[in-house]
Amino acid sequence: MTSSYLQLDSLAVHAGREDLAELGVHAPPIDLSSTSPLPSIEAGGLSYEAMAGGGTPNAEGGAVYARLWNPTVARFESALAQLEHAESAVAFSSGMAAMTAAVLAVMKETGRRRILAVRPLYGGTDHLLASGLLGAEVTYCSAPEVAASVRPDTAMIVLETPANPTLDLVDIRAVVDAAQGVPVLVDNTFATPILQNPIDLGAAMVLHSATKYLGGHGDVIAGVIACGQEQAAALRRVRAVTGGLLHPLGAYLLHRGLATLPVRVRAQQENARRVAAWLETHPSVSRVHYPGIDGDPQGLLGRQMKGTGAVISMDLRGGYAQAEHVTLATGLFTHAVSLGGVDSLIQHPAALTHRPVAPEARPAASLIRLSIGLEDPVDLIADLDRALATHHPIPVPATASHA
Ligand SMILES: *Cc1c(COP(=O)(O)O)cnc(C)c1O
Repeated sequence: MTSSYLQLDSLAVHAGREDLAELGVHAPPIDLSSTSPLPSIEAGGLSYEAMAGGGTPNAEGGAVYARLWNPTVARFESALAQLEHAESAVAFSSGMAAMTAAVLAVMKETGRRRILAVRPLYGGTDHLLASGLLGAEVTYCSAPEVAASVRPDTAMIVLETPANPTLDLVDIRAVVDAAQGVPVLVDNTFATPILQNPIDLGAAMVLHSATKYLGGHGDVIAGVIACGQEQAAALRRVRAVTGGLLHPLGAYLLHRGLATLPVRVRAQQENARRVAAWLETHPSVSRVHYPGIDGDPQGLLGRQMKGTGAVISMDLRGGYAQAEHVTLATGLFTHAVSLGGVDSLIQHPAALTHRPVAPEARPAASLIRLSIGLEDPVDLIADLDRALATHHPIPVPATASHA
């Protein structure tokens, strides 16, 4: 069921639709059944056992119960696996449910409990690992410290590139080389499979908050991990018992979203490039964080990442006070967390998405994050120009009108 001979854009449109012609339909059916009629006790039982063990249902026994398997979800998983050059993929009810399953699965499979976390990470991931909720021990390090930080009890290395919210790039291949065989999970949410395929660089697992670019329209919360067959089976075993599964309606929307993913990512990236270049010249902005804007000292653009993406962060000279003002003053940019959708968003990471992160690793109070959408960049720049300009109080003559 692989279409790997297809170019990326063709794959995005056609992957996961291989069974539709046979079904006599053009759009993927949404299968909402929570349970399935059983042909016999024995056949149902064997299928149940296959799925609880991390496999797929067998033809005679069927899906049995939707916590174990759902065909609408399976189509999305197949499509995403193909886009990520992975053997398989497992979808979850959120990015955090996916991360939870990855931690539980590697601890179970390896008998080890330590997670090596390369900072900076998304605030929720950082917090989940630090919380001790999953019984994992966590060591934080920077990318160059990985080799010296791997220990006999290290179960998994977690990294994010570009990282949320600083847009730092991490050399995936260098971390894999330093990992001494420990599986590396790459959070690929910001890059998407359109710009970066970590499996090709030696990563064992690729995680997406599908809530962001994969969905792309701000109406689905979901997560997915692309990986090899063995890891996928381990993740399915965890999902079957913990139940953090993706609902078929969400899977349908995500699968539909994949068809436009290459077009959306490229167009949003082009807008982001223009906004980032304009921000660089703005006197209120002390630093723009955007891949390549510092000249790409690690040489990762082109080699690791095919483009620069569409998330930008910036430090404001006016610090937190100006950040507070700007987030209230934009009109076209919605002041909201999340990213990757067709509409542009603005938010303050230290106070919101990264609030649970330990103070020493929290983003600066002067930092604002922008997710650039599909609006005309002329309008996006005009909106930011207004919001940035109105911060410094301009002396108004007593007679002037405020109209
Ligand atoms: C949003 C996000 C997550 C968490 O995903 P949810 O779908 O919100 O659970 C994980 N990693 C990154 C990089 C994110 O931006």
